[in-house]
Amino acid sequence: MGERVDLVEVSPRDGLQNEAALIATEDKLALIDRARAAGLNRIEAASFVNPKKVPQMADAEPVMAGCLARPGADYSVLALNLRGLERALAAGAREINYVFVASETFSIRNNGAPTFDTLQVWPEAHARAREAGVKLAAVVSAAFGCPFEGEVPIARVMAVTEKVFAHAPDEFALADTIGVGVPSDVKARFAEVAKAAPKSVKLRAHFHDTRKTGVANALTAFENGVTILDGSLGGVGGCPFAPGAAGNVATEDLVYAFQRSGVETGVDLDRAIEAARWILDKLGRGHGGAVARAGGFPRGEAAARVA
Ligand code: MG
Repeated sequence: MGERVDLVEVSPRDGLQNEAALIATEDKLALIDRARAAGLNRIEAASFVNPKKVPQMADAEPVMAGCLARPGADYSVLALNLRGLERALAAGAREINYVFVASETFSIRNNGAPTFDTLQVWPEAHARAREAGVKLAAVVSAAFGCPFEGEVPIARVMAVTEKVFAHAPDEFALADTIGVGVPSDVKARFAEVAKAAPKSVKLRAHFHDTRKTGVANALTAFENGVTILDGSLGGVGGCPFAPGAAGNVATEDLVYAFQRSGVETGVDLDRAIEAARWILDKLGRGHGGAVARAGGFPRGEAAARVA
């Protein structure tokens, strides 16, 4: 495998957005501090969406302010429309993840409009981001399956993708929002995306581990040209508009799998496990990533105690 994969820590946004109990801004920033201490230098910190629909993200502005007071990492935020993009820019965001949804029903529920309606403002969103000089990622969600429609054909994913590539972002991600994909889906989709992608676009993937295929999918994506992967410490997360979407792929599981495969992540696994256990405790969660439970690769005598 190649030498290096970039991990984007999405626990402060995708990890926490589904939590019913409001989490204090300082706890979100404490999570960000722990992620950074583990070497996770790319962090999706907040979501500039309607606070009535996603109350957990209502403190996006103060979270962003907290990030700006913590230099030395790259913080990104999510937007679904021009209003969100403008709020993010006004808050000082330097990286935007702009999200489309491949399937029609889920697009209406998540983004408030059919897929190709939301794509109509993409040229304007792209121009605005370029004018502001911020990094721009486009994300196509539900690219492997939809909780309402089931199968999402590759042709549908590519019809959306081609519209996006007409105004090339810096990064382009396919997201398996509900965790239904398997490695052969990953290979097939990214083969088509790679063919269509302008050379300047870096490929990224966002997996959920709902059906325990997240790590396999991530490794497959990396073998097929994806150099950036989203992960969430402790495997926390879900989507408020996708029933049964619990569980982002755990960052520490990705770190373990890539590092043992000889691929550098820049992340300290022990500190990532500490951070994962901290957020799981905070949320009162027993579940989470496999590596947060089992620990890293055994070191001699400690292994005997575990056995
Ligand atoms: Mg997600």
